[in-house]
Amino acid sequence: MYRYFMPTKVFFGNEVWEKYGDMLCECGKKALIVTGKNSARLSGALDDVLNELNKYKIDSVIFDEIIENPDLTSVEKGRDIFRNEGCDFIIGIGGGSPIDAAKAIGVMASNNLVGNEIYDSSKMKTVCPLVAIPTTSGTGSEVTSSSVISNRSENRKAGYSSELNFPKLAYLLPKYTMSLSPKVTRDTAVDALSHLLEGLYSHRRTPIIEPLIHEGVRLIYDNLITAIENPNDEQAREKLMLASMYGGITIAQTGTTLQHSIGYPLTAEFEISHGLANGIVMKDLMELYYPVIKGELNRLFNALNIEKENFYNWLEMLDLVADIDISEEFLDKRIPEVMKSRNMNNNPFEIKEDSIRKIYLNL
Ligand code: NAP
Ligand code: FE
Repeated sequence: MYRYFMPTKVFFGNEVWEKYGDMLCECGKKALIVTGKNSARLSGALDDVLNELNKYKIDSVIFDEIIENPDLTSVEKGRDIFRNEGCDFIIGIGGGSPIDAAKAIGVMASNNLVGNEIYDSSKMKTVCPLVAIPTTSGTGSEVTSSSVISNRSENRKAGYSSELNFPKLAYLLPKYTMSLSPKVTRDTAVDALSHLLEGLYSHRRTPIIEPLIHEGVRLIYDNLITAIENPNDEQAREKLMLASMYGGITIAQTGTTLQHSIGYPLTAEFEISHGLANGIVMKDLMELYYPVIKGELNRLFNALNIEKENFYNWLEMLDLVADIDISEEFLDKRIPEVMKSRNMNNNPFEIKEDSIRKIYLNL
């Protein structure tokens, strides 16, 4: 028995506004636009959205205070603006941070949630329409049911998942990613790669999406270095955005695994990007899982026409390193946190604390 569920309407390509912009009229009369400080403007996405809203006489308010690894405080601020301004739908523009924040603002405003209630999806009964417009090729958040929010006062980064979080509409225009720096291009693509691999690692893996996973990994393997070296390569940008969406579709079915759980404390403690946190443990994670899911991983390498060692050599070329110092204090505090995180339910076998310790100490 297999399950596949993806209720988001997806429009992919640089011309989608002309043909599908009018779908925004189905969402509401006043939008709260949720973005970060710069990327929505820099990428051209905000201008395009305002243009569309104007065309269909839809009102809007801009909330552009979402920072990387969005926090509860700004989500609650967005919730209050949504209510006070009488908005009835939300448009998230940006990387995973603004899109995740937009999702959280939606469920908080629609269900009158406060504080840490955001992590409790049983409290979510309804949600306003949500539109997602990615400007990075990484999280795939535009097609997932999850959102990752940090509670900085508790020094905690954690996700929650609810089917209400699936955006109603997702507009994916690869041209919005042309302004990404080589570093963000690399880190976000490595996040997408993690999602695709985790579709194989997770015990919720399903053959329905295996071809999608193989194709997504191939697109990243073939195009990431090109996009890093030639940021204006339109074809490479398009392929990475496609791969990122495949990664989102993947984790929407399978969830993430220890690969993500182990990265969250690295971001919370050392402020390294989410994608890099995944990347610096990627090889060790694959080695940990390999004996148990050899069949799935070998099928992937066969599809790519490579051996595992070729994949590791390619990872090496990406130069995924971070200057961090893992202390006993870090291990004592963070390993129990990793063990308790919700993604751990998806691992293909029971993970022992000692395995996590070894991976951290290998950094
Ligand atoms: P991000 O945190 O949204 O953005 C990273 C940086 O890139 C920011 O400085 C941002 O600028 C900039 N940026 C974004 N688009 C740009 C563009 N087109 N041109 C130039 N700069 C641009 O990065 P992300 O990796 O996409 O998102 C990471 C977050 O998503 C993490 O919190 C992670 O945990 C979460 N995540 C969610 C899911 C999910 O399924 N929901 C899955 C994986 C990860 P601005 O500050 O100006 O926006
Ligand atoms: Fe991720």
